Amino acid sequence: MAQRRARVEVTETGIRIIRKKSRISGWGVYASEPINKNKRIIEYTGEKISCAEADRRETKYQKKGQIWCFTLNRAWFRDGNVGGSMARLINHSCNGNCYSEVIKDVVWIRASKNITKGEELSYDYNTEGEAGMRCRCHPTCTYKI
Ligand SMILES: [Zn+2]
Repeated sequence: MAQRRARVEVTETGIRIIRKKSRISGWGVYASEPINKNKRIIEYTGEKISCAEADRRETKYQKKGQIWCFTLNRAWFRDGNVGGSMARLINHSCNGNCYSEVIKDVVWIRASKNITKGEELSYDYNTEGEAGMRCRCHPTCTYKI
């Protein structure tokens, strides 16, 4: 089932991004053109689910070393694994080039600096080690995702 070919997509804000094998983990998302600091790049979409349902799903996902549920607030989450955009494939990094912005139940991934064509996109998941997974942003990173 795994597709191996890179895939280009134009996001809702008109940014060209490309999905290909990540330098960090699994699939990653790369800029296919320069992106200005603070530009909204892509919406993190996915099924809106309750906290209890997110807990159930995350337990299952984490066994496979995956994190899909984005926290909207204490009550609601978005599961990027169900109907999610390419944003779900953007990896965590402690020193990334993007940040997340939550406006009610909409999540935007925005550029935290000027990004050049070909750079892998990443942002801090701010999970505070809940998944207990080691960060792979750098070979010696000791942060827990
Ligand atoms: Zn790290």
